[in-house]
Amino acid sequence: MTDDRPPKPETLLVSGGGAPPSPWPSGMSTPLFPSATYDLDAAAYADITATGGRDTWWYTRLRNPTVEAVAEKLARLEGADGAILFSSGMAAIATTLIALLPPGATVVAARDLYGDVFTLLSAELTRQGRKVAFVAVDDHAGWGEALERGASMLYVETLSNPMLRLADLPALAELAHRHGAVAVADATFTPPTDLRVLDHGFDVVLHSATKYLNGHSDLIAGVMAGRTAQLEQVAAQATMLGGCLDPFGAWLLDRGLKTLAVRMDRQRTTAFVIAQALAEHDEVQAVAHPRLAAHPDHQLAARLLPGGSALLSFRVKGGDERALRVLAALSIVRQATSLGGVESLASAPYNTSHLGLSPEQLMQAGIEPGTIRLSVGVEDPTDLIDDLDRALRATA
Ligand code: PLP
Repeated sequence: MTDDRPPKPETLLVSGGGAPPSPWPSGMSTPLFPSATYDLDAAAYADITATGGRDTWWYTRLRNPTVEAVAEKLARLEGADGAILFSSGMAAIATTLIALLPPGATVVAARDLYGDVFTLLSAELTRQGRKVAFVAVDDHAGWGEALERGASMLYVETLSNPMLRLADLPALAELAHRHGAVAVADATFTPPTDLRVLDHGFDVVLHSATKYLNGHSDLIAGVMAGRTAQLEQVAAQATMLGGCLDPFGAWLLDRGLKTLAVRMDRQRTTAFVIAQALAEHDEVQAVAHPRLAAHPDHQLAARLLPGGSALLSFRVKGGDERALRVLAALSIVRQATSLGGVESLASAPYNTSHLGLSPEQLMQAGIEPGTIRLSVGVEDPTDLIDDLDRALRATA
């Protein structure tokens, strides 16, 4: 063994690069730090022994510099004490529900929920010993009765899918807290540029960051943000359940977030213009958009969501068979599930987001045959209106 012998190529290939500058240069984009693990030293071992490694870069499922930088931006946007990033909206939601609802506890939830969340609550969490009560989002007496019977969590989506019923967040938060329950909202359809859930008294806000927060249909991610008490409980479960966002995903999310405000402005404005045009169209029976006077939550929206939503739904004459033909006849608007990207996407809830619901269940959710959901993108508004008009006329 000699001290001055240079390492062999195999060793250089693995660890022969120069050390990165410390501190890193300050650039326009958040540095991407994809390392899964980090060099440990005596200070790291001491912190791991004393605190479980709270202040140490140790292992990326526990902490990562890129992920933490983006989580901090989201916490500030939401007015939260902190935020945790997840590998999907479902990972954020499932981890939060498991962490905040001990087995035996009851959650009272809105009946109109994203399909997989409805199944998670009604099948999986129930199987694990949690109890679930569902109420209509505007049934305040029903919420009160369920909370009185001992629910420890109230769970809503800020805007329902696809009829865009708006939850009365201040009233629901007050009701939850009066009964000692934690108030949790999925705000996927209303990013914090449009509506800050915690400002209305909620304790926890969740997002599928796959949608508006990222905005480019090239990432699956989720967010939980809230108050310290709930963050600590969710962080502990997140570590064990393991649905962390990878650093590149966090980096992509950060790039998308930079344009969130301008995208939302454009998409919301165009959605309202399209909603007005469709409301006047001979081939359209009804349009749901919170800024239209005919919407049941129009007045509540003027207070909570004055810009309206970038989503709308409309019902064509001729039922689901016609809706499918309209979708196929569109050339700028794409036929796809999901929402919130820069591309306008349309889908029929009965065979996508609400697949498996019986005709009666669809009617109960207010989804009549012929309903199409439209996620409005950033394209030219007149091109979008012409595309919809052409498809409606071609299939009449
Ligand atoms: N919440 C809502 C309201 C959604 O629409 C979705 C997905 O469409 C989810 C949660 C789940 O998010 P993800 O697909 O990122 O897991």
